[in-house]
Amino acid sequence: MSVLYGFHHSIAGRRGYAGVFDEAERLGTTAVQLFAKSPRSWRLRRPRPGEIEAFRDARAIGRVERAVIHASYLVNLGASGEARAKSIFSLADDLQKAALLGVEYVVVHPGSGELERVREAAQEALALAPRGPRLLLENVAGGGRKVGRSFEELARLIEGTELGVCFDTCHAFAAGYPLHSDPAGVLDELDRVVGLERVPVIHLNDSAGALGSGVDRHANLGEGAIGEGLARLVRDPRLDGKALIMETPAAYDEANLATLRRWLDGA
Ligand SMILES: [Zn+2]
Ligand SMILES: [Zn+2]
Repeated sequence: MSVLYGFHHSIAGRRGYAGVFDEAERLGTTAVQLFAKSPRSWRLRRPRPGEIEAFRDARAIGRVERAVIHASYLVNLGASGEARAKSIFSLADDLQKAALLGVEYVVVHPGSGELERVREAAQEALALAPRGPRLLLENVAGGGRKVGRSFEELARLIEGTELGVCFDTCHAFAAGYPLHSDPAGVLDELDRVVGLERVPVIHLNDSAGALGSGVDRHANLGEGAIGEGLARLVRDPRLDGKALIMETPAAYDEANLATLRRWLDGA
């Protein structure tokens, strides 16, 4: 079996978008995730001259097989009024960037409010953007009226659409799924309720918060409350062909990579 794996990388460097491949090359990874703009501002980011081409060129000569854009944290597809319009526009912008860059997936947190509104807003963003990139809704840790905490909610969000799901292990654990003790059982449930064929991307993070705590705080692999449960998860043959993205501080990339490779080799 073979999984693809890599990290979320910053685009703050001199090479902008293409910089993520410099990091992937240095680390020897096969998947990348990036923000196409600042994730905590509504401001759009205009690519510099040649930046799109540099990204495509760097990808063509490297080993990265899956690329993912993570949408802005401000996006709330369940919002109303101006916040809703801004959210749809921001997400459509990320989908357009993904199409320009040749990025396969855009991942977004559904937001809070009514589930049906989230579904509709996601469809509106897709309708505004060029076809090509697939939009994935990420499960969340919980809190407030957030949508997408349970697999059942995710299934309802994507039912009858072309949407997929991004499965974040930290968020699932914080939402009460026992990945520390029964990772295979959690995968069974994800498959039964959502369908693993609709989950092409997995955010592989350990959790600093306890099971069911609702706390969204990522920990380095093996150092959080999920611990060795993640080792069993990544060796599950049902993850074959999936892209695993780690979302921990860049300073720990080498350490997390060493842990992941040790786990995968220990199969
Ligand atoms: Zn996320
Ligand atoms: Zn995530």
